[in-house]
This record gives sequence, C-alpha cells and structure tokens, in this order.
Amino acid sequence: MSSDATIIGAGLAGCEAAWQLAIRGFSVTLVDMKPAHRTPAHQLDTAAELVCSNSLRGSALFSAAGLLKAELRQAGSLLLSVADETAVPAGNALAVDRHRFSNEVQRRLLAHPRITWRTERVAQLPPEAPLIVATGPLTDGRFLETLLGDDSAFSYYDAIAPLVAADSIDWTRVYRKDRYEDDLESAAYVNCPFEKDAYYAFVDALLAADKTPLHAFEDPVFFEGCLPVEEMARRGKDTLAHGPLKPVGLVDPRTGKRPFAVAQLRQEDAAQTAFNIVGFQTRLTQKAQQEVFRMIPGLENAVFERHGQVHRNTFIDAPRLLDPQLRLRQHPHIRIAGQLSGVEGYVESMASGLLSGLSLACELRHNTTMPLPPPQTALGGIARHTQQAVPNYQPSNIVWAMIETPQRNKRQIGKRDFRKQCAERAVGLIADWQQSVNQLAPLAPGH
Ligand SMILES: Cc1cc2nc3c(=O)[nH]c(=O)nc-3n(C[C@H](O)[C@H](O)[C@H](O)COP(=O)(O)OP(=O)(O)OC[C@H]3O[C@@H](n4cnc5c(N)ncnc54)[C@H](O)[C@@H]3O)c2cc1C
Repeated sequence: MSSDATIIGAGLAGCEAAWQLAIRGFSVTLVDMKPAHRTPAHQLDTAAELVCSNSLRGSALFSAAGLLKAELRQAGSLLLSVADETAVPAGNALAVDRHRFSNEVQRRLLAHPRITWRTERVAQLPPEAPLIVATGPLTDGRFLETLLGDDSAFSYYDAIAPLVAADSIDWTRVYRKDRYEDDLESAAYVNCPFEKDAYYAFVDALLAADKTPLHAFEDPVFFEGCLPVEEMARRGKDTLAHGPLKPVGLVDPRTGKRPFAVAQLRQEDAAQTAFNIVGFQTRLTQKAQQEVFRMIPGLENAVFERHGQVHRNTFIDAPRLLDPQLRLRQHPHIRIAGQLSGVEGYVESMASGLLSGLSLACELRHNTTMPLPPPQTALGGIARHTQQAVPNYQPSNIVWAMIETPQRNKRQIGKRDFRKQCAERAVGLIADWQQSVNQLAPLAPGH
C-alpha cells in the first residue's frame, strides 16, 4: 500500500519533515540511498548526519541562531529535542555527539509505526504524490535534471574541518578555556597557543601548501560563513589572527598572558575521543594537511581521524521555482526542503524540513495552505528568505536582518537586550502559530 507522502532524503530536513507528518497521522515513506550509496561528504550509515562541524551554533536568545533553535523547540522539532539530548559541552553553543544524534534520530523514526524506511538511490521521481525532495546540497546533477528539467540550479563550495584523535594531542602544550570564561574545569574548548613567529610561519606554510584541484573551468565561489582556512589566509597574513585564531578572551592560565593567536579544538563526542579544529575547513591535500596542521602547537603528532575536504554545494533558484509553501510552481505536488531550497546550515535545514512537513500536513488534512510563521520570527525569516526575488539569490544562515523587528531606541535599550526582547516575543508568536497549524493538522492520538 502506498504512503500518504514520500520523502526523498533522510538528512536533517527530510527526517524532520517525516516526523511532523507521522505525528499528525500520515503514513510516510522515507527514502535514502544510505548505506548502499553515499555522497562524498557522508560517512555514517544512519539518518540526519552532520557532515562537518558538530556544532548547531550559539544558544543565546539574542543571537538569531539561538532564537531559531528556541522556536524549533517551541514548535516541537524532533531533531532539536534529540540535539538537546545528545549535547556535548561547547560553551555558549549547542554541539552534539554526531553518532549519538544520528543514531537516536534514526531509532525514533524507525520506531514510529507510520514511517517506513526504504533504501534506494532515487534516479527517477517516483510516481507517488505528494513528494518532499530533501536530498541536500550534494544532490546528484542528473537527479536534479530529472526534477527541474533544464531549469538552473546554482552552486558554491563548502568545506569540512579535520578531526584529530584526542590521544594524539600533546596535552602539555595546550590549555582548556572558553572565551571570556574563568571556569576552566567545565571549559569546552582546548586552546593551542601560537607565538608570533610560529603563527607567521604557519600562515606561510598554509599559503604554500598543495590544494585539491577543482575542475579547471570552475572558479570556486565559497560560502563566506564557511571559508577554507587557506582562503582566509590568502586575504592577509593577519586575517586568521583576527578570525578563527583570534586570542581575545583566551589568556593562557599557565602564563597569565594572551597568546599571539590561538587555534581552538572542540570536543567531537561525549567520550572525548576526538576533537575538531574549529574553523579549519580546508581544501588542502591530505598530505599537506598532515604537514601544515601539525605546525599547530600541541598537534605536532596529531592523528587525523578525518581530513578536511571541499565540496560543491548545490541549491535551486527558490524564489523563482518555489511557492511560499515550498512547492515547485511547475509541479505543486513536489516540495523542496533543506539546503537544496537555498537555506544554509544545519538548524536552518531542520527548520525548512519542519515547515515543509507542516505545510504538507495542512494540505493533506484539509486541502488548505499552512499559515506562514509571522515575519517577526526566525521561522518566518527562513520562510521569507526562499521567496526573496533578488537578482543573485544566495543561501543564507538565519540572521536578524531576516526577522522583522520594531525600530530600536538606541538611548533606551542596548542591542543585546533589545534582541532578547524581540526573541522572547518571537517564541510567543511561534506558540500561537503552532496552535493554528495544529488546528488545521492536529496531532494524532498518542502521536
Ligand atoms: C561539505 C559541507 C559541509 C557543511 N558543513 C556545515 C557545517 O559545518 N555547519 C552547518 O550548519 N552546515 C553545514 N553544511 C550545510 C548544511 O547544513 C548541511 O549540508 C545539511 O546537512 C543540509 O541538510 P539537508 O537535510 O538539506 O541535506 P542532508 O543532510 O545532506 O541530507 C540529504 C540526504 O539525502 C540523501 N540523498 C541524496 N541524494 C539522494 C538520492 N538520489 N536518493 C536517495 N537519497 C539521496 C543523502 O544520502 C542524505 O542522507 C555543510 C554542507 C556541506 C556540503
């Protein structure tokens, strides 16, 4: 018997969409090519894999990323609740143990009686309607052609940071401390302090190192929020010292001095067997990574559990191709969700999955459209972003500029407090919005 909905891609967006439909009483077939086939970036056999960093970014409510997470919690996101359950210490950010996160999402989905998992690398669109396509930024070009015909998809390059084994770090050369925090005991970050000469020697080596070649005809366009470390170094010898290697708030407790620059490591898993080098996404060859990154103080004998990589990241021209309910204008039974629709980031992909699942649930239950989340909310900002008809549509992380806020009286309230106020209001608005969605597509008894 066919399901009420088929979802292609059990990544962050697809899993969230499947859950939202299933708990509202709809049967879902969730199709993924893993573990039989994988994109070049995916390594795990399980669903909802975080391909690079294990961080879902800042938690503070005054940050747009923190607000989006708070709204997702309010809206009943499965993935955010599993992220909270599988969190590892990461200072003011929410970071997860990626194995536990992925395993737990998969376990919850497989345990749901209305979700059927199918392993298949989809080449042709299945005849079943309706459909949510959430195949992610590494979607195969031929599959995209099947989906969009000759219509254009765009791309840029995204890179992955390396992971090093904890027992290969020289713990005598590094120190634990979170930026601006004095509590060293519970610090989530490990700091590798550079002296001035060592820093400049490192930057020189980075600039001279071999890079993985891209196709000759491709002029690489990188996502500004995730630039390869060597690309940042190319912009100026001090760029890294003011960027991912900035030492402010990281006085070395052993010397009482602030190092010239600091490379930070963040724990990757709950057992602390591996650490990722924060901000060190790269397209250096594996050999060059071993040579150059071992110049980082404390990493002289680092064993690389995963090397950095660079990947093409594909997205569609959403404002032209999608309607506000994320349906393809040409084929309204197909919705596109996640990074492929032009949102950027793990949490944004979860949010897009949630919106697509709820939108389809409203359509299936009452043949009606989902009310869009209010523009004063981060979820509303995500929904509006994919509708912004601009000449050069680009993916974006959630930022405050996407969220409608009143004019701030600078003399009366500081920026942080103002944003916190706006955020608190936004979470309340999402509670009301969720109620109206639940009236259209109620939760199934016992879910
Ligand atoms: C190299 C790289 C690094 C990134 N690093 C970060 C980061 O550090 N932080 C961050 O916030 N964001 C990062 N992103 C961006 C983005 O947040 C993630 O890619 C995110 O996983 C996107 O979620 P998604 O659900 O859209 O796609 P994905 O999570 O990629 O899920 C897509 C799923 O579809 C499946 N699939 C694909 N094609 C088919 C097919 N034909 N048939 C069946 N199944 C298929 C795949 O196996 C996969 O499970 C990165 C992206 C890339 C490419």
